[in-house]
Amino acid sequence: MPFRAPVADIAFTLKYAAGLKAALAEGLYGDLGEDDIDAILEEAGKFTTNVIAPLNALGDTHGTPFKDGVVTTPPGWKEAYRAWASAGWNGLSGPSDWGGQDLPLSINAACNDMWNAGSMAFIIGPVLTMAAFEALSAHGTDELKTIYLEKLVTGEWTGTMQLTEPQAGSDVGALRTKAERAGDGSYRLKGQKIFITYGEHDLTDNIIHFVLARLPDAPPGTKGISLFLVPKFLVNKDGSLGERNDVRAHSIEHKMGIHASPTCTMVYGDHGGAVGYLIGKENAGMTCMFTMMNNARLSVGIGGVGVAERATQQAFEYAHERKQGRLASSASNDSVPIELHVDVKRMLMTMRALTNAARTICYATAIALDRGKRGKDDAARKSGSDRAALLTPVAKAFSTDIGTEVASIGVQVHGGMGYIEETGAAQHYRDARIAQIYEGTNGIQAIDLVTRKVSLNGGATVKAYLDELRQSVEKVRAANDPAFGMTAKRLDDAIASLDRATQWILIQLAKNPDAALAGATSYLRMFAHASGGCMLAEEAVAASRSGNGAAHSGDRIAIARFFAETIAVQSPSLEVSVTESADAVTGPALPGAA
Ligand SMILES: Cc1cc2nc3c(=O)[nH]c(=O)nc-3n(C[C@H](O)[C@H](O)[C@H](O)COP(=O)(O)OP(=O)(O)OC[C@H]3O[C@@H](n4cnc5c(N)ncnc54)[C@H](O)[C@@H]3O)c2cc1C
Repeated sequence: MPFRAPVADIAFTLKYAAGLKAALAEGLYGDLGEDDIDAILEEAGKFTTNVIAPLNALGDTHGTPFKDGVVTTPPGWKEAYRAWASAGWNGLSGPSDWGGQDLPLSINAACNDMWNAGSMAFIIGPVLTMAAFEALSAHGTDELKTIYLEKLVTGEWTGTMQLTEPQAGSDVGALRTKAERAGDGSYRLKGQKIFITYGEHDLTDNIIHFVLARLPDAPPGTKGISLFLVPKFLVNKDGSLGERNDVRAHSIEHKMGIHASPTCTMVYGDHGGAVGYLIGKENAGMTCMFTMMNNARLSVGIGGVGVAERATQQAFEYAHERKQGRLASSASNDSVPIELHVDVKRMLMTMRALTNAARTICYATAIALDRGKRGKDDAARKSGSDRAALLTPVAKAFSTDIGTEVASIGVQVHGGMGYIEETGAAQHYRDARIAQIYEGTNGIQAIDLVTRKVSLNGGATVKAYLDELRQSVEKVRAANDPAFGMTAKRLDDAIASLDRATQWILIQLAKNPDAALAGATSYLRMFAHASGGCMLAEEAVAASRSGNGAAHSGDRIAIARFFAETIAVQSPSLEVSVTESADAVTGPALPGAA
């Protein structure tokens, strides 16, 4: 089924649930107006529907054949990539001095949502290029910027991010790729990286690798890692392409999903060492990576939202067309569309509610990142950065977890046809799964939330956030609309559970860190329930106030209510598993272990 970018819904969520309207009113985005934003989203929607979305199924079946070190992208991908770059999408939030448009990350996030729905396998390449040019822009020398930055921002060249090695996945500090000083200010790299997204392809003339490596005299662990820029082709002084550098793709992986995104093993130094240039300072590579980590994690989270949106649209359409069975509540013998069966309706509403909740969390995270960058003074920027730091692991892990859950429900809505590849429902499920793993596994995100983010500013950051969530609940109460059902009460309970679990975690971090870790994943889910529930409620209240037919206030209230009454309501049980069940995890030996 053709994908339709939900531009109006996305714009409404961005403005009312995530807080863009308030950010515009307080001048965070300068002269940028609502009309400008609507126009950009409209164009991104058209580009997604017309150019990216049609690539998705074709990319899945065709994959990226690899022969003699060369990766061939599926038919039509080169043309689509050229259209992408020439339309300026690659540099939407890129620095304006280097060919970008310097638009807010929140606008980029909303567009990214649509692009991911179009094709995760296509957009993950540009997303990594965006991360690469962000690192170069923040930490590169003027000379490196002059040679590489504009070409990365405009998409003339692509970028890769290379951390992973066979023995160094979540534990980046274990990496062994070596970099030696060449004596002329450059370095020579030797080693192997695995699982490198778009490490090799035929979309552009050059590929710029951003590689973590270790100097001979580096201290062990993450304190001894440096970041290097390593071009596939060296660049001459006049900007033309020179010799091939000593880096190559050795092979590509055969994977469960995102078949059109080549995942490469990269080999450095067959002929003495690949020429690399230092980004930032020696042994400060992790600091450079952290500059872009929040954005990259958010982008991957948005991948979960995008694929969930596509799976949801498809399931709704299928359930409308497919007829089976009769309604228990009707005397008619005619079979009915399955959307009318209560259990199918439950599945469809779960898909829509989870997708919309994850979307609001991601957009709110993007606005916090914008505040961290564009806030009016140091205090405003710090508060924005702290909020973004708190929400980023939730945005990444919850959105990608629900990406898979929603796609799985989508398969179920299709019945047997969901398991048959032709419908495309199975592809969404297979594609969605990787986003829970890369850019820091979701387990690592939960650990980050519990061990580093909850304790930010002595717990004051999370406390201020919970207070804001409570204000959203008060707005639901003040609306005094019976259509909200038990929304306010259920959200109150979810926030109270989250608050108690937060206090418990803050105590355990000092007393018994393993106990805090045992509940980290459940805690992250509770965090998402309270956040998503309140943001959906904000959106529904705004829709009912706006008196604007396009706001679909009835639908938005129904979604907010469904989320509060059937999903957020799980939080009190999760609280028990966080605060009372740690010993069930940490106490006994692993069953069956020798
Ligand atoms: C398709 C694909 C594309 C990728 N693209 C890139 C890329 O472009 N660049 C790049 O550098 N990498 C890339 N990766 C690698 C990816 O980021 C890693 O696979 C990921 O970080 C996990 O590392 P790992 O596979 O070694 O798993 P491991 O680190 O071995 O983890 C296995 C399990 O153990 C858990 N675990 C590990 N350590 C801990 C701990 N300390 N505490 C609790 N739990 C823990 C994890 O959460 C996970 O569940 C890609 C991977 C794939 C499959």
